[in-house]
Amino acid sequence: MIPFVDLKAQYRAIKPEIDAAIIGVLESTQFVLGKAVEDFEKTYAAYTQTKYAFGINSGTSALHLALLAAGVGRGDEVITTAFTFVATAAAIDYAGATPVYVDIDPRSFNMDPARIEAAITKRTKAIMPVHLYGQPADMDPIMEIARRHKLVVIEDAAQAHGAEYKGRRCGTIGDIGCFSFYPGKNLGAYGEGGAVTTNNPDYAKTVKMLRDWGAERKYHHDLKGFNYRMEGIQGAVLGVKMRYIEAWTEARRAAAKHYDRLLGQAGIAAPPALPDRRHVYHVYAVRVADRARVQDTLTQRGIHTGIHYPFPVHLTKAYADPRFPSGAFPHAERAAQEELSLPMYPELALKDIEQVVAALRQATAVPLKKTAS
Ligand SMILES: *Cc1c(COP(=O)(O)O)cnc(C)c1O
Repeated sequence: MIPFVDLKAQYRAIKPEIDAAIIGVLESTQFVLGKAVEDFEKTYAAYTQTKYAFGINSGTSALHLALLAAGVGRGDEVITTAFTFVATAAAIDYAGATPVYVDIDPRSFNMDPARIEAAITKRTKAIMPVHLYGQPADMDPIMEIARRHKLVVIEDAAQAHGAEYKGRRCGTIGDIGCFSFYPGKNLGAYGEGGAVTTNNPDYAKTVKMLRDWGAERKYHHDLKGFNYRMEGIQGAVLGVKMRYIEAWTEARRAAAKHYDRLLGQAGIAAPPALPDRRHVYHVYAVRVADRARVQDTLTQRGIHTGIHYPFPVHLTKAYADPRFPSGAFPHAERAAQEELSLPMYPELALKDIEQVVAALRQATAVPLKKTAS
């Protein structure tokens, strides 16, 4: 059996350090924020090359706080991609604003910058690109458009820990970056977690206050805040995992390279890794016709796959909007029908990758490419 992700393998590899770090928090009784979280924040700010990083209780809360800190509120519009996890749109809605979607570039599955300007109105306040699957969105044109129209850029980097665009880490290219440490993410807590990163001291101050009841000093509630604090145990777990994140990321990239090569030999298109980017392969996404049948066939052979995502956001019931009917974003809608996520985690063995590709080749019935000899 080849699982889609394997969190147990990772825990086994670092169990003594994790267990000791958790016990440290139990003994300190700093269960909410505290030293373990502060230490992690310092490490994470250095890792993302930002001045400030704040531990938050989830990636969704991080997005919500980033929007509020940027001044997004009722009646505003935020431009984002139609093809993302629902939390991106949910956070915009929590802030009282309306998500306005644009279609994707079918090569990268990311927001197509060429479609942003047509979506800008007098109400537009921010652009929220998502670095989907760990591949950075095309940030140069996004930033250029944002500066020209005086819009704030909030990166949804929930899948892009350590990803780089032209040598710069995701989460530091826009005005504010948001990360998720949900257990299955490239950097995963042992529970819920998230972070906000920024170089802007005003945004930093507001995020720090909002996550803890809008107070800089206890009971001085200057802003209407939230209970969005990171737990001490999560800070401690993440602190341990930061020692390994680069090695794990390189292991994912090596696995992806192996997939790329074998899929190429099998005549199946590998997901394009665009130039000037460090793709961190949160998801290794291929496209297949007749996906349900292919996925079933793989499951029968003990190979577990995922779909990210079966519906673009504008075709979910919750976020349907008459402005964006079915057919509004053909590339996103097609991706939702074709995308198949292959097993991907740092501990994935090369021989497992060979097995996945062999099974995929059979399931898609693509004849073997003739080698010249
Ligand atoms: C996981 C994810 C989120 C939400 O993060 P949580 O920590 O689960 O709240 C937001 N956006 C994207 C793109 C994600 O993948």
